Amino acid sequence: MHSFQHMLHHHDPIFTGFAILVLATGALLTMRLFARVRRTAGSVRLLWLFLTGFVGGGTVWSTHFLAMIAYRAPVPVTYEVTMTVLSLAVAVAGVSTGFLIAAITQRSIFVEAGGFLIGLSIAAMHYLGMAAMEMPATIEWSTGYVVASVVAACFFGAITTNRVARPVTRFCKYGGVLAFILAVALLHFTGMTAAAVVPEAGGVASQSDVTNTILGASILFAILVVLSISLAAYWIDHKNGQENTSRVQQLALHDPLTGLANRLRAVEFLRELIQGDLDDTARVAVISIGIDRFKDINDVHGTGVGDRILKTLAERLSRAAQRQEFVARFGGDEFVAVRHPVFLERQAIAFCERLKAVIEEPIDIEGISVTLECSVGYAQFPDAGNDPEDLLQRAGIAMYQSKRSGGNRITAYTDEFDEENRIRSSLAIDLKKAVQEGQLELYYQLQNDARTRVVVGAEALLRWNHPEKGRISPGLFIPIAEETGLICEIGDWVLRQACKEATQWAMPYTVAVNVASRQLTDAGFPAKVEAVLEESGLDPARLEIEITESGIIADVAFVLNIVKELKSLGVRIAMDDYGTGYSSLSTLQNFPFDKIKIDREFVRELPDNKQSAAIIQATTILGNSLDIPVLAEGVETEQQLQFLAETGCSAVQGFFFGKPMPQGDFCKMAEDDRKSRFADILGGAERKTKAVRTAV
Ligand code: C2E
Ligand code: MG
Ligand code: MG
Repeated sequence: MHSFQHMLHHHDPIFTGFAILVLATGALLTMRLFARVRRTAGSVRLLWLFLTGFVGGGTVWSTHFLAMIAYRAPVPVTYEVTMTVLSLAVAVAGVSTGFLIAAITQRSIFVEAGGFLIGLSIAAMHYLGMAAMEMPATIEWSTGYVVASVVAACFFGAITTNRVARPVTRFCKYGGVLAFILAVALLHFTGMTAAAVVPEAGGVASQSDVTNTILGASILFAILVVLSISLAAYWIDHKNGQENTSRVQQLALHDPLTGLANRLRAVEFLRELIQGDLDDTARVAVISIGIDRFKDINDVHGTGVGDRILKTLAERLSRAAQRQEFVARFGGDEFVAVRHPVFLERQAIAFCERLKAVIEEPIDIEGISVTLECSVGYAQFPDAGNDPEDLLQRAGIAMYQSKRSGGNRITAYTDEFDEENRIRSSLAIDLKKAVQEGQLELYYQLQNDARTRVVVGAEALLRWNHPEKGRISPGLFIPIAEETGLICEIGDWVLRQACKEATQWAMPYTVAVNVASRQLTDAGFPAKVEAVLEESGLDPARLEIEITESGIIADVAFVLNIVKELKSLGVRIAMDDYGTGYSSLSTLQNFPFDKIKIDREFVRELPDNKQSAAIIQATTILGNSLDIPVLAEGVETEQQLQFLAETGCSAVQGFFFGKPMPQGDFCKMAEDDRKSRFADILGGAERKTKAVRTAV
């Protein structure tokens, strides 16, 4: 008869209670061990995994057979040895493999697939265990209950790993334990409901196999083994933790300048946290904070002021840190903070935002008032790894990604950054050689008068001919050059080369050279320009230096002086990429610019996009009222050109008049331009003579 009540009626309550107690303890232990697997790396990890599988599989097996002892069959039952042992092996192997899959994949759908496999192996164990029964009776199976039992086991198996890998609160680890218990218990009791034992008439009990007494003794033994193994493992682990702590205390752990913990301490702290008594399902947020353009502050105000600013920031960060938060300084302008437990992404982001806000409050030191910005990156354990060094490095990578995207933002680490980073560092190495081995080249792009369309100048644009990777865009390598400081060397080369090549043109066009912010904060820059002008013999009035607003903002007063010195040489200054940065009115008012270059972003959607059109109109009005001519970049179509000419832009630059070209082509173009203008003048003179003659 297949009914749940009927089945329960056949179970001895004391043994059943004992089975459930073993199951609950075993499940709790299994899940604690699994948390260890997720937290460790290398060969130790395999050891923990083996233990998890052993304890988990052992729990499933012991529970089953204890419950079988509790089961009052209508006939005497014994168990066939091979099958009984096989069922244990299947449980251990299946549970280990399932946890292995879930641990390796961390967050993909394989987490649940691993749990599913655990459920499946629980079911396999149960039915193998049933097959081991030998008795003078046959079993009548109810297919419906069998299917239901397997489905329940697989479902709760999947939930077991799901709760651990995707926690929402600190209680989710108990959700994992509960799901494991349910997977085993539901499978067993539904599975037992599926089986109706029908005694055979005149059957005789087998003599040679395992009786309930022997079975009970072996289970007791198995439970003892499992328990002592787990206890031993914990003890060893705990001991290790203690040893680490005392060793660490002897090391120098603090940053001398700010008194904050240093890198070494941060690594140890993270290690203790991860390996210690951390909430099983909790995440740890590791965040890295880099102060934007801190080098400029040091360069301009001196390191004394820089140090005092760092101290102030350190004090603020320690004050802002709450319980369960940790702050360190990694030298330079990099700070690191750790928070745990974190369950949701937005908790990590809120942590980043809180510290970022603290750094961005204005600082007043020795009469200097600075407002800093910072780039923040974060990586979370276990999603981004479980090794402290890796986590710190990855938070740093995410922070650099923030810097690269313009700074003043928060970025989460993803694996792609790592790959990108590898490409970038290999490019950085190659770039060093590029300067020495002459792989750099300048291309020139025309700048034309918006109304008459005649050529008035050209912008020098850097190209890198990489021996293997081909031509690399400056959009990619200029930021690398800026990060590594190579930009100064490269910038010097560009300036010298552009001035030299411009003197070879047949027409006296202006030549515009892009200058990075690093170059502008070098007090010797104007002298360098002067020397290059002298060496090349280029008329200073033909040289135009393009600077961007971000290059100015770091220290307005200092850069203003440099700009004034440059202007006193007779060189012109253009503001590049206008509209993309801060675009503050005060910059335009305070700086004696000779040109505003509207970024191509605003020209791209002309003339249909109302916003772009409005920005361009406003900028031209502003330029006209300040008496600064406006050039629009990125002009590609006739309509765009017409709109810009009508709006009052004085010059344009873009693919409409041609792509940037190498020096050889540019020289030819200049020569043709000279000839045609000469012909025009001659033609004009001829026409004039003719007109005079007719008049006479
Ligand atoms: P930029 O100074 O704003 O230079 C203009 C960029 O716009 C160039 O890209 C140019 O090829 C592109 N461009 C010109 N006309 C059009 C157009 O009609 N449509 C479109 N879609 N694009 C157009 P490029 O050469 O890739 O340079 C990118 C950036 O790299 C430059 O932007 C500049 O910031 C930087 N750069 C280039 N050369 C140097 C250099 O020698 N020194 C420094 N510091 N930066 C440089
Ligand atoms: Mg430019
Ligand atoms: Mg530009």
